[in-house]
Amino acid sequence: MPPEATPHALPEHGIASDELLHRLARLKAGDLPVRGGQVTAYVYDTGRAAVHDLAARAYQEMLEVNGLDPTAFPSIVTLERQVLGAVADRLGGGSGIFTSGGTESIMLAVKAARDARPAAERTEDGPPQIVAPVTAHPAFHKAAHYLGMDVVAVPVDPASYRADPEAMAAALTPRTALVVASAPSYPHGVIDPVAEIAALAAEAGVPCHVDACVGGWVLPWLRENGRTIPPFDLSVPGVTSLSCDLHKYGYAPKGASVVLFRDESMRRRAYFASAGWPGYTVINATVQSSKTAGPLGAAWATMMSLGAEGYRDLAAGAMEAAERLIAGVAAIPGLRVLGAPDAPLVAVASDDPELDIFVLADEARARGWFFQPQLSFMGIPANVHFTLTGVSLAGVHALLHTLAEAAKAARAAGPTEVPDGLIEALASLDLDDVDDEGFAGLLGAVGVDIGAGSGGQPEMAVVNAVLDALPPATREELLIRFLSALYSGHV
Ligand SMILES: *Cc1c(COP(=O)(O)O)cnc(C)c1O
Repeated sequence: MPPEATPHALPEHGIASDELLHRLARLKAGDLPVRGGQVTAYVYDTGRAAVHDLAARAYQEMLEVNGLDPTAFPSIVTLERQVLGAVADRLGGGSGIFTSGGTESIMLAVKAARDARPAAERTEDGPPQIVAPVTAHPAFHKAAHYLGMDVVAVPVDPASYRADPEAMAAALTPRTALVVASAPSYPHGVIDPVAEIAALAAEAGVPCHVDACVGGWVLPWLRENGRTIPPFDLSVPGVTSLSCDLHKYGYAPKGASVVLFRDESMRRRAYFASAGWPGYTVINATVQSSKTAGPLGAAWATMMSLGAEGYRDLAAGAMEAAERLIAGVAAIPGLRVLGAPDAPLVAVASDDPELDIFVLADEARARGWFFQPQLSFMGIPANVHFTLTGVSLAGVHALLHTLAEAAKAARAAGPTEVPDGLIEALASLDLDDVDDEGFAGLLGAVGVDIGAGSGGQPEMAVVNAVLDALPPATREELLIRFLSALYSGHV
């Protein structure tokens, strides 16, 4: 059925608050739980309810404050300086910007690097380039897409999944505007050889960004706990900027990240000002202009409440959970961990053709756990990803039990069968003539049912198997079509 022109017009008369809150609660009942540790991606749980309650109150306290104008609301300058100071103190110094997330932090670092290029180096051969390992986060591709740049994606070492400095050096050209290393990379939790990569960037006179979005607020604590963590932050010669998400291992509510620049002049290149209209003057440090100070207040409160001691404890627990998971996986036939994680991020792949890792993920979901599927890429096998957090250690036994049971069930069920000819048909399909409704119909016709209609939970294995068999460009096209059909109400 086609959606109506205005599927949900505003009610003529306001609805009572109790009823509205009740509706929200009902809608949320269909979501994955954000607490408890059974969702091993997306959410970061300290396991300390009081900390998250405090964050919610601090968020609400700052909710209506507009981060657009720091002279009108000086509280945001004080809070931001305290947050940035605490982060810089643990990550090698520099001056920073509080942003809405890792993607925005990266976007600003990329913009600064692009705009730092001397005009003489802006060649006519094409747009400026970001040289990054293939394991670098898609935020770099997104930044390049938005900022008129190209990404040169460099293969990583096939055994360790760490960036290969020699291959990266070979990828530099006169167009290179930024070199990237991850600490660690999200997919496999391994730290790239930051010192070598930063050195080769410095030698070429190019800035180097360390993406410590996921690791920036867990690695320092692991080191303070006595673990060996290679140097990765702004103290490393040649590193010119670094991103660190507070809404990950900072355990702050979403909307909280930091980008640090070695030089204030680079930070200024991330800023934007406009006096090009007859309205109020615009001076922005971030992509957003008007913005709530809620995430800043909540991140500040979370950090001050946990303190260094709190973060050391949480990091110790998360890493111990990761190590128990790694040891436990070794005892489950057919499964193996990819690489040797330096941080509490673990990717588990199947070595057994009869054990389909995406079927395993569905089996886990049916048992109340969410394991995050990651597609195969350039010879790196498909896997499920686990982000272990402060709450994970208490549940790691149950996690391993579920993993083993799901593996058994997946092997019994056998690998996903993709309908004959579907991959070829999708790969050669010209979607330009298909609208959202037609696309949803196509999905239905091949038996892909993403709407949680039937059993309450979508069967994702077939979707993942189909995507996994297609080249990245086709995957991207299908994902965009899917999102559009989802929001127009067709799937
Ligand atoms: C999460 C993540 C990002 C992107 O962060 P968002 O907050 O989701 O925008 C970038 N890099 C790494 C390594 C990450 O883990």
